[in-house]
Amino acid sequence: MKNRICEKKELELYFHIPFCIRKCYYCDFLSAPGDDETKRHYMKALLAETAGSASRYAEYCITSIFIGGGTPSVVPTEYMEELLEAVRSRYRLAEEAEITMEVNPGTVRREALLRLRKAGVNRLSIGLQSAHNEELAVIGRIHTWEQFEESFAAAREAGFDNINVDLMSGLPGQTLFFYTDSLRKVLSLSRPPEHISAYSLIVEEGTPFYKKWKGGELDIPDEDTDRLMYQETKTILAREGYRRYEISNYAKEGYECRHNCGYWKRKNYIGFGIGAASLLENVRFRNSLQLNGYLANPLGCREEIQPLSTQEQMEEFFFLGLRMTEGIDCREFEKLFGCRAEEVYGDVIRKNIRDGLLRYHGQAEQVEGRTSEDRMQGDGLDSNKGEITDGDKDSGELLYGDRSRREENEKAVRERKNRDRNGADCALYLALTDRGLDVSNYVMAQFLL
Ligand code: SF4
Repeated sequence: MKNRICEKKELELYFHIPFCIRKCYYCDFLSAPGDDETKRHYMKALLAETAGSASRYAEYCITSIFIGGGTPSVVPTEYMEELLEAVRSRYRLAEEAEITMEVNPGTVRREALLRLRKAGVNRLSIGLQSAHNEELAVIGRIHTWEQFEESFAAAREAGFDNINVDLMSGLPGQTLFFYTDSLRKVLSLSRPPEHISAYSLIVEEGTPFYKKWKGGELDIPDEDTDRLMYQETKTILAREGYRRYEISNYAKEGYECRHNCGYWKRKNYIGFGIGAASLLENVRFRNSLQLNGYLANPLGCREEIQPLSTQEQMEEFFFLGLRMTEGIDCREFEKLFGCRAEEVYGDVIRKNIRDGLLRYHGQAEQVEGRTSEDRMQGDGLDSNKGEITDGDKDSGELLYGDRSRREENEKAVRERKNRDRNGADCALYLALTDRGLDVSNYVMAQFLL
């Protein structure tokens, strides 16, 4: 069932394919090598879960699908075709739905890509990580830069015009020059990708890298170099016309990953497959991590069902929403929670605005019949009383001297209060500034109530 205009509630689907050819040394994702028989059983169970769950989501329209892993491209293409056919026939799939599949270089050929394109996959995410074969070997990747070039060219030939490439910085032995060279090599492909995800290596517990790091044997770049890599990513990609729309994600205009934006905006999504997480009408849950349990009963493996309190929803709204450079939608907050964000987080917001880490933007022309200008003229000091308070205490601006100085100071404070109030009342978004994005974890942690 296809639907061009989605009059129903929106829902995103995620499919987890937990197979890889071998484990990369830094990876803590739920993935492992699997033989043909295990893959066959797993895909059968995934199909059963997908088809058997359809009636639960009859009131929703599927706006995006993400097939991730693991390495979905190590599974025979016919299973993907069957899976997408099951979604098409049992769910209401929006005509313009974004359908992404993750692939790794060296695991896809032109023929398979043509079939995937035909089956409806319209976006590919290719895990490259580095354009240097020595670095790829050091982190345990299975492919070379040359294999990436082949896969990328094959994807273009197969008609994929929306491709993401994953890159990593902070790899063992990596220098700033080698990192930026990787970036440049990707950008000098004959038709560069529409989207680039640039993550910094995180040494996760339980990985081979963690053991090495603990033993002092992992030669990763120091903090300063890591920061330079991060800064260079922003500079180089901006110069090439990529807009940074999330902390680590850059896209050409109109090529932002709609599925991931859905996560950050807390849209409903359902995950299928082992360990897959879901958020449905403010309840978070997850499938079992046990492969055998899942294979035996794919429709009965939900665990960790957690209805979110209003406070938890508000926290998520902020710490997920602030990941995007656009920031959180102030009106959406008000619509969802029945109060203004400033009423809940006023102190934190004002503090971070003063520190230059947050900013309001997207000023509305008119709010509740009053323009910004009306407010500036109409709101006196008294009417603001109690709304903008700690700014006064901390500002240190009231230095009483002679009468004219005092009046001048009072006027400045009044104007700033009006400015702040106007920002809070009329702005469409509250977002991290450039500086705030650099220390996003620090700012976002402050929104945990
Ligand atoms: S290919 Fe991806 S999922 Fe698989 S082991 Fe490597 S990083 Fe992990």
